Amino acid sequence: MTQLLPAMPSVDDCYFDQRRYPDGVAFMDGQYLPMSEAKISVLDWGFLHSDATYDTVHVWNGRFFRLDLHLDRFFGGVERLRMKLPYDREQIESILTNCVALSGHRSAYVEMICTRGSSPTFSRDPRQAENRFMAFAVPFGSVANKEQLERGLHVAISETIRIPPKSIDPSIKNYHWLDLVKGLFDAYDRGAETALILDTNGHIAEGPGFNVFVVKDGSLRTPAFGVLPGITRRTVFDLCAEIGLSATAADISRAEIKEADEVFITSTAGGIMPVTRIDDAVIATGRVGFVTRRLMDIYWQRHDDPAWSTAVIYP
Ligand code: PLP
Repeated sequence: MTQLLPAMPSVDDCYFDQRRYPDGVAFMDGQYLPMSEAKISVLDWGFLHSDATYDTVHVWNGRFFRLDLHLDRFFGGVERLRMKLPYDREQIESILTNCVALSGHRSAYVEMICTRGSSPTFSRDPRQAENRFMAFAVPFGSVANKEQLERGLHVAISETIRIPPKSIDPSIKNYHWLDLVKGLFDAYDRGAETALILDTNGHIAEGPGFNVFVVKDGSLRTPAFGVLPGITRRTVFDLCAEIGLSATAADISRAEIKEADEVFITSTAGGIMPVTRIDDAVIATGRVGFVTRRLMDIYWQRHDDPAWSTAVIYP
């Protein structure tokens, strides 16, 4: 018979190949596992229908940053999706801590996930699915690399519209990313490094894994509508209140963002990250602005402050 399939790697070649996975520790079905062994069923609604919620918190210098806020957002999403977690808040906090401690990472990207799960009968009724919780800790990752953090990112504004909040509540952190991924491809096609996409009214919304801020005449503004209320975005509001800067959540037009004095994006994956070019427009002088630098400095300083961070106890 004609060979239709390419030669398949043997189980030994691929199944336990740690090099294909980031170095880290996952928690699943009551067990801690290396990342290479953390697998979910293809029948899980989380995979088949993006029926899941999650949260990502980071650990920096051996301390979780604002873990309580991430847990609040995660538990809020789980409740609104009518899912049930098999663990309480305290247990989840210790699972996350154990993942980090067992991984040994001092700077980590830590994700907690609840999926709808699957039902033993493959029922189409989501109420019959058994919800699943999993978590993992892998090395810290950032939207912007070191060089981009120094010179500022080049961002393209895609015509793609973010999924409307009346369809999917953006305050439930979710994996509905096809719009964001399309935005990324649009950006790469135009020689940019990442993307911003629009809300249903044609204003700036957010990008793949980040919120955005503009600074104009000393005041800050970030989109209010149709975006995930990011914890880093919230942290920028808190820092602005502390240092006496005005920050508001309100619409930002495509013209306004290009005429800003400074632009930056915010994410747990990288913190506060400068943007110095949008499409073909250079933002102000094309250098990372004073307000952005100041906020970046204070943001990272707060990571050692016990009022904002919690120590991981390593073995
Ligand atoms: N917007 C989206 C769509 C995201 O996925 C994320 C983070 O993953 C953010 C914004 C930033 O949120 P946070 O600051 O909580 O990481």
